[in-house]
Amino acid sequence: MLGQMMTAPLLISALIDHAARYHGDTEITSVNTGGGHETTNWGTVARNAKQLASALQGLGLGPQTRCATIAWNNRRHLEIYFGVSGGGFVCHTINPRLFPDQLVYIINHAEDEVLFIDSTFVPLVASIRDQLTTLKHIVLLEDTVGAAAETLPDLIAYDDLLAQGDAEYQYPQFDELTASSLCYTSGTTGNPKGVLFSHRSTVLHSFACNLKDSLGFSAMDVVLPVVPMFHVNAWGTPYACAMVGARMVLPGPGLDGPSLVALIDTHKVSIALGVPTIWLGLLGEAEKAGSALSSLQRTVVGGSACPPSMIAAFRDTFGVETIHAWGMTEMSPIGSVNQPLAKHLDLETEALHRLRENQGRPPWGVELAIVDEAGHPLPHDGKTQGELLVRGHFILDAYFRATSSDTLQDGWFNTGDIATLDPDGYLTIRDRSKDIIKSGGEWISSVELENIAIAHPHLSDAAVIGAPHPKWDERPVLVAVMAEGAAPDAEDLLAFFEGKIAKWQIPDKVVFTDALPRNATGKVLKRDLRDTFAKILLT
Ligand code: AMP
Repeated sequence: MLGQMMTAPLLISALIDHAARYHGDTEITSVNTGGGHETTNWGTVARNAKQLASALQGLGLGPQTRCATIAWNNRRHLEIYFGVSGGGFVCHTINPRLFPDQLVYIINHAEDEVLFIDSTFVPLVASIRDQLTTLKHIVLLEDTVGAAAETLPDLIAYDDLLAQGDAEYQYPQFDELTASSLCYTSGTTGNPKGVLFSHRSTVLHSFACNLKDSLGFSAMDVVLPVVPMFHVNAWGTPYACAMVGARMVLPGPGLDGPSLVALIDTHKVSIALGVPTIWLGLLGEAEKAGSALSSLQRTVVGGSACPPSMIAAFRDTFGVETIHAWGMTEMSPIGSVNQPLAKHLDLETEALHRLRENQGRPPWGVELAIVDEAGHPLPHDGKTQGELLVRGHFILDAYFRATSSDTLQDGWFNTGDIATLDPDGYLTIRDRSKDIIKSGGEWISSVELENIAIAHPHLSDAAVIGAPHPKWDERPVLVAVMAEGAAPDAEDLLAFFEGKIAKWQIPDKVVFTDALPRNATGKVLKRDLRDTFAKILLT
């Protein structure tokens, strides 16, 4: 025998067991759906998760049975994450903002047998209940079913289900490649597609999150995932926090600026994570409320491009560091995180600020490449843009129950994003390939134009689309939402682009709208805008 190390499968149950054993008294604060909040800790979450796993087994569920959730970020949802996966079942988180038809499709496609719901979603689930062909149990995330039982007669209360379980239950050991959780992508075309994560990919992704050059959670942190637990597992935050025993603050249904500012200040949140639109509301509210957000050290912003003006506002007004990250459901989701290198310490302040604006570099576990339309590799020179390909330890191989096996391109997953990469691996997302504006054979990045527009003080939101043009194929059009009380004129807005980009990239036109259409995860529905404004440059 040469001698070797012990082996144990990389299982999610080991994350929660660790949190219970070494961080049992670390608090978890959870905002209740009906108002108010409760404080628990990792020890109690772990005990309840075990009891849940045991109760689910008592219902006679087979291994890998899909157990779905339609729920806010709260402590019962956290217990479900660990109890369901730990027990060998699959935790399927569902986005309640999907259309009812899509919900029906997803639940039936996943063959969910159990559905955990917050009281907010009782009417929604009641409206589609008849169409859910595989569902056997609906569990309300409350201590009793109360009046909800009149709307959904077969409802059980979470606490009653838990009472049927055994808190001394021991999690089963199984192959780390076993499926642990399931998320459907909120595609803008066709049916949503399922991404099935494994125990191994989830644990490795947690390590990647916790690297110091990545999100770097620690036992010293108070982590506020504003990103919903139904959006790629809150970007993996619950697992990564359990791994290091970080304190968590779960915001429940109140994701508005005032609620978030109050949570940050009351619970001394040190790191918060969310999409850019959430922070627009928060920044304005913090200024209005006179809060200095003094506990907040870092915000992780991703899901859509983070405008440089937002990074500057966090930094200059509140002394908060923004960590710009990029990823996608198919990547668990972290693909790149903006953190500097040692050689950047000597940079002038302005240059360092500029460096922090792009989508960052990949953590261990992710490899990035760019290719042209024929699939030929392109140089990583920070200038050449191409289709972004990825591969690694927590990246999709094939969609859940896919009928075709052509998801990968020579072992790489095509992200559908257009990007540049520099020699250090820093990634700049130029656009979704569907959204890039093709003007007279040149490409214009809608993201770059939006970043400029959103910095205009009289706009509260902005999107740029390519509209058909008789001479240039497509030209950019700015769709703008005015800030409260402001009335900018179109000429002013267009003049704002001058000197910031090449003249020929400045939009041809500005149209004003009350609000931008967004999909279930907050991304602007550019296809809808393109349909609405299809003729605007033709007439
Ligand atoms: P989803 O799987 O719904 O999270 O969507 C993933 C897509 O969101 C990516 O392919 C990108 O197009 C976009 N995305 C995510 N993060 C960023 C970011 N930081 N900057 C630009 N686009 C982003």
